[in-house]
Amino acid sequence: MNTIVEKQKSWFKEGHTRSYTFRKEQLLKMKKMMTTFEKPIMNALKFDLNKSEYEAYASEIAFLRSEIDHHIKQLKSWMQPTKVKTPLTHTGSKNFIQKEPYGTVLVIAPWNYPIQLSLAPVVGAIAAGNTVILKPSELTPTVSWVLKKMIEQYFPPHLIAVVEGDKEVTQELLDQPLDYIFFTGSVPVGKIIMEKAGRQLIPVTLELGGKSPTIVHKDASIDLAAKRIVWGKFTNAGQTCIAPDYLYVHHEVKAELIRSMKKYIHEFYGENPLENPDYTKIVNESHFNRISSYLESGITVEGGTTDEQQHKISPTILDQITWSDTVMQDEIFGPVLPVLTYDNLDEVIEQVNNRPKPLALYYFGENENDQQHVLQNISFGGGCINDTLYHIINPHLPFGGVGESGIGNYHGYASFETFTHEKSITKQTTKFDQSFRYPSSSFGLAMMKRFFG
Ligand code: NAD
Repeated sequence: MNTIVEKQKSWFKEGHTRSYTFRKEQLLKMKKMMTTFEKPIMNALKFDLNKSEYEAYASEIAFLRSEIDHHIKQLKSWMQPTKVKTPLTHTGSKNFIQKEPYGTVLVIAPWNYPIQLSLAPVVGAIAAGNTVILKPSELTPTVSWVLKKMIEQYFPPHLIAVVEGDKEVTQELLDQPLDYIFFTGSVPVGKIIMEKAGRQLIPVTLELGGKSPTIVHKDASIDLAAKRIVWGKFTNAGQTCIAPDYLYVHHEVKAELIRSMKKYIHEFYGENPLENPDYTKIVNESHFNRISSYLESGITVEGGTTDEQQHKISPTILDQITWSDTVMQDEIFGPVLPVLTYDNLDEVIEQVNNRPKPLALYYFGENENDQQHVLQNISFGGGCINDTLYHIINPHLPFGGVGESGIGNYHGYASFETFTHEKSITKQTTKFDQSFRYPSSSFGLAMMKRFFG
């Protein structure tokens, strides 16, 4: 491992990654790689997670294509130094921010969108002129193997290397003299990563998870809300970091919302989702058992069936849930939607604020004052008004958490910014010298008082 890191670091020092031309070439290669490997990627996603072609294409391949294209289009302007204003004290100088890559970046990826969440940070890191070591998740081994093969075919290991393995391998990587660590995964592992990085003062981005609420107020467009919630929750069988984790619904519209959600579950996944060949499975037995145990909470009003052999759990709605139920203790990360009821929006705000800041929040309701009330009184990573998940696919919106749901963000320019050190430069004139700053200046103090008040 230290050989890979050493090779990447010394190659980086030689300056190959600095030019716009080089970086653009790598992004074009990445685009080509995505096309060449489209079929193996789809097959691997089917094998490891039973992802349908539609889901695999929409949430992994199309997402990455758009991200790569956006980087190619904007890279030149992003790389330019940013000029800043020159205050009176700096008269004669030019002031700007030079964009500098960090060096060697470690990207640690999870298994739920194993292609997108591995390669989207790599796109940003390469565009910003870094070298990358990618550690995919061991829970999706076929995808991990395909990632290794495709990267090896398109990139030399001194630029991008894939290191496969479990937490021991990751721990070993974390001991290396890296320049940046980008981690996507769970909160407990995020804490381990940050602690390890802290020992060497390596900067980190942590893209974590948590329980993301969905609030449906009494003035929401109920049928549409139901459709968008069902889509956001059960895509990838709920194994989405920003999926609605639980539902908070105003008591006046609860019955109607549940009725509509049941309708859309049947429309999207059929009368028996467990027999739908395109319905995503739960990644492994331990996650299957963990999620199945939640089925004992509350009253099941939809789904609740499981197939142990195939690791499938049908889209499930649990009614009459309270905060003390097991299903409300941790992030669900599966196709189980608990429903809590409220009378007053401020109750919801208080309950959500009593818990760690969520990665996402979705609010359904027409009144703009209520929308603003929620936005201004709950802190969360990002989200939607009257929709779910959609904010993540706009490359102009930075994506990341806050508090326990993460540190830093990426996507589009935010990715370039994340993997770039902003070096502040004052380029001073040598044509004259302002003497007021020197201790011997007779009018220095008077000048400073004039400048600074
Ligand atoms: P995880 O934290 O178990 O694993 C993530 C990565 O860390 C894997 O590559 C794994 O090998 C490695 N790892 C695991 N234990 C480790 C340890 N002790 N030391 C060092 N490395 C270790 O997460 P997961 O199960 O792969 O993914 C699910 C979690 O990720 C959920 O909490 C979800 O919300 C979160 N997530 C967040 C985002 C986001 O963008 N914010 C996206 C996807 C998933």
